[in-house]
Amino acid sequence: MSASDPHPSQLDPERRQVDRTQEQHPGTDADHPPPPTPESAERVSGSDVDVLVIGGGIQGVGAAQAAAAEGHTVALLERSEAAIGTSSRSSKLIHGGLRYLETYQFRLVRESLNERKILQRVAPHLVRLVPFYIPVYKGMKRGPWMIRAGLTLYALLGGLRKSARFRSIPRSEWASLDGLDTRNLRAVFRYYDGQTDDAALCRAVLASAIELGALVDAGAKVISAKREGERWRVRFVRGGVEQECLAKVIVNATGPWANRVAELADPKPPMREIDLVGGTHIEVRGTLEQGIYYTEAPEDQRAVFSIPWKGRIMVGTTEQPFTGNPSEIQPTREEIDYLLNVHRRYFPDSKGELLSAWAGLRVLPRAESDAFSRPRDVTLVGNGERPSWVGVYGGKLTGYRHTAEEILDVIRPSLAPAKRKADTEELRLPELERVTVWTDGPV
Ligand SMILES: Cc1cc2nc3c(=O)[nH]c(=O)nc-3n(C[C@H](O)[C@H](O)[C@H](O)COP(=O)(O)OP(=O)(O)OC[C@H]3O[C@@H](n4cnc5c(N)ncnc54)[C@H](O)[C@@H]3O)c2cc1C
Repeated sequence: MSASDPHPSQLDPERRQVDRTQEQHPGTDADHPPPPTPESAERVSGSDVDVLVIGGGIQGVGAAQAAAAEGHTVALLERSEAAIGTSSRSSKLIHGGLRYLETYQFRLVRESLNERKILQRVAPHLVRLVPFYIPVYKGMKRGPWMIRAGLTLYALLGGLRKSARFRSIPRSEWASLDGLDTRNLRAVFRYYDGQTDDAALCRAVLASAIELGALVDAGAKVISAKREGERWRVRFVRGGVEQECLAKVIVNATGPWANRVAELADPKPPMREIDLVGGTHIEVRGTLEQGIYYTEAPEDQRAVFSIPWKGRIMVGTTEQPFTGNPSEIQPTREEIDYLLNVHRRYFPDSKGELLSAWAGLRVLPRAESDAFSRPRDVTLVGNGERPSWVGVYGGKLTGYRHTAEEILDVIRPSLAPAKRKADTEELRLPELERVTVWTDGPV
């Protein structure tokens, strides 16, 4: 099958008749609609499965793929389109998270770097290493020696592979760095990390789950789940019609909506106290030819990326506490101005013409500390030793496959042994879409 052919999961004639919500993927509009969400030929209504996943973000599709790969019967319900929530609003980086070294999250960094390697192998069309530049100016909180130490540790945690090498860019080459401000510049470091198209990755993992036999309905909003004997009876609305299915185990992978969805269950599963923290990205006119720039916001020294993205520059992100309905998260004027200021500070020739802005929500464990220093690990909350309900809280796009394995470890005692169909560490993801971010070949 070529990349331009529709995937079999996209050929369901019924899918166009289903109402989707009015929400839009960032960067799409009526003239540039997102590719359709992969759906199975067979509907979820009336099914009786081992595992029902609620939510078609990256954690949900990853869990569905892993459970189907292990040979279980699986269904997935997504209220709208795949990746409509946080999973199309990330910085689109498949990375260990250099900055997490500052908060000693070494295990997370090592695990993420390992996942980066796996994703480069199973999805080379969607995950690629690109150059990252870190400019260090006089008066910055993090001096050259600190950056060098951080990059050395990052390289060590990355297993000192070729891809983990970094270097200081000689002064004679600074002029080639996309108009980066060279006044008071002390050093520029270059290292390599991963970039993806988050929504495309999500659709590819979902298509893989379907190939492994998962039933998938998009535009299907779960409205209740009632435990009856050994099964959950789950009711959902699709195309204005109430439907239902049965499942032994539910994986609640609804990201920022996780506790709202848990409230729909009877009996109520245990929940995690969380804070939602909004993160905005803006798109400005212009291009970055050399790669991604990792800068520091002058106001508060937070890390901000300027990223080449589909012929434009994406700048992000912010951290704003959020308490409303997750469906209503929007960038604020202050966040937009903050990001425009950071971009203009480092690229003074750029007019910083704003083209669009969007926001997503991080799910962080409730705490008094600032969002920046809180752990980014995923937390799985199950109802007992042989759980019939598992809530997924937090995590990273990068770690979705590993998280899915952890989810399987938690629910395995509740399921009958099955005949494994595939190993997600080796299974290549379908080539539904081409990512148009990169102009040249892989690094
Ligand atoms: C600003 C920002 C930048 C980030 N950058 C990065 C990055 O560069 N790299 C990285 O690794 N990670 C990054 N992350 C983290 C990453 O994006 C998230 O961890 C990930 O996308 C979360 O996915 P999820 O599946 O848990 O949630 P979501 O993607 O939000 O998915 C939840 C889904 O549940 C559905 N849903 C809700 N209610 C119902 C219902 N009743 N019935 C059916 N479906 C329902 C929603 O429609 C939604 O599609 C970033 C996060 C943010 C906020």
